[in-house]
Amino acid sequence: MLKDLRINNSLSGKKELFEPIHAPFVGMYVCGPTVYSDVHLGNVRTFVSFDIIYRYLLHLGYKVRYVRNITDVGHLVNDADAGEDKIAKKAKLENIEPMEVVQRYTQDFHRVMDQFNALPPSIEPSATGHILEQIELIELLIEKGLAYEVNGSVYFDVKAYQKDHNYGKLSGRKIEDLLSNTRALDGQDEKRESVDFALWKSAVGTDHIMRWKSPWSDGFPGWHLECTVMGTKYLGKTFDIHGGGMDLKFPHHECELAQSVGAHGHDPVKYWLHTNMLTVNGQKMSKSLNNSFLPHELFSGDHELLERPYSPMTVRFFMLQSHYASTLDFSNDALLAAQKGYRKLMNGLKTLRNLHVNEGEDATPNEKATAQINQICDNCYRAMNDDFNTALTLGHLFNLLKKINNLHTQNLTISQIGQEAFDRMKHTYKTFVLEILGLKEESNLDIDGLMDIVIKEYAAAKEAKNYDKVDVLRSSLKSQGIVLKDMKSGIDWAYEE
Ligand code: AMP
Ligand code: ZN
Repeated sequence: MLKDLRINNSLSGKKELFEPIHAPFVGMYVCGPTVYSDVHLGNVRTFVSFDIIYRYLLHLGYKVRYVRNITDVGHLVNDADAGEDKIAKKAKLENIEPMEVVQRYTQDFHRVMDQFNALPPSIEPSATGHILEQIELIELLIEKGLAYEVNGSVYFDVKAYQKDHNYGKLSGRKIEDLLSNTRALDGQDEKRESVDFALWKSAVGTDHIMRWKSPWSDGFPGWHLECTVMGTKYLGKTFDIHGGGMDLKFPHHECELAQSVGAHGHDPVKYWLHTNMLTVNGQKMSKSLNNSFLPHELFSGDHELLERPYSPMTVRFFMLQSHYASTLDFSNDALLAAQKGYRKLMNGLKTLRNLHVNEGEDATPNEKATAQINQICDNCYRAMNDDFNTALTLGHLFNLLKKINNLHTQNLTISQIGQEAFDRMKHTYKTFVLEILGLKEESNLDIDGLMDIVIKEYAAAKEAKNYDKVDVLRSSLKSQGIVLKDMKSGIDWAYEE
């Protein structure tokens, strides 16, 4: 069963059997955020999707090196090589150092990922930390006749590349269409063709504050270069998985692919994976469309699109309810339903903790009941092996939950399914919910509210001179590290010091 993982490869457009190049090692590169503002829920969806993929590969026993970069230079406001650098623009706006912008939003990104219980990557390299390697790659591309210099900037020569290779093979774009697109865009006049893309941009004569020395000019690298360089450096010239949001397929990943093939003569990646977009009323969630909300707005409910607050695990569950390659539309109703579903799954964990074989239960297992449990457990694997289908997996987990609840209400007994199937059920449920889907128990308990209830009980027992009950309440609370205090103003509580 472990060998049966199939994943949808964007390069072939087909579901393919996953066979790592150097099993048991797996190299996975995911394009990280451009750290110039808070990540919105759409960004979170993409990173949560890859978190599940990472978790499942680890669960299957692969030794995964997961590289997710931080883009801290080179991503321009206009993706077509013109306009300001997103980070430099923000720094100017706030009158702070670009690296302060980078630090602030990298920290924010880490905090948000932690709130959503996403595992950190194995390596998180940054573009500015790899300028030398980027310059070396540009030199190699120039040497191979695949890049040219104009006024201190260097561009990738798509027409030259096209002689031996196929630009557009990942995104399905046709080179003839791309070449005939002569749309005049600011800053594109230097290029031989509008489809050519920047490898190095000169900052001479501009007020660009982020700049480095290079053989061509003081300037900065093109956005697509960093991922090619860092992927190669940490995962090798060919590695297993490269991922990112669907919107990165073109031009970002197409350009990355061309840079690697141009420099090394072969494809860099065996499986390309693209996650689909989180939408709001059918439109991609994005800052520029003004329809995005931030994680903290979701947790507080403080946003005009939100009817109430939702917890991080409710949102994670909501994301799990769709396959990563389908769009997911935000709605309050869907989130409310997700809250119910998430709580049901958590109650299942609680029920499992309290299920034990009753003494005297020694009936022989019923073959049909045992087979059903095994079937559901197998189905959980089948669903994840089918291109990480979390939506189907959840369905199977709810089937398992039905069995768990039947055991709880004693409509089914452990002896009927047998100890072995019971242990498997318990292990599968816990492993899928906590380890693979990455959900965790969230305690939103309001301790003051709970203590109000206890204190009322305590006061009533005192009033009724029921000192046995008073003693029991006091000692039970003490065992939880809580002491009651009889004050003139009434009864209060405190943590035991
Ligand atoms: P950026 O910081 O803009 O480079 O985006 C970081 C990641 O978030 C990229 O992989 C994008 O594809 C992804 N992303 C952006 N908007 C959305 C969205 N609405 N839904 C899902 N993923 C998104
Ligand atoms: Zn990238």
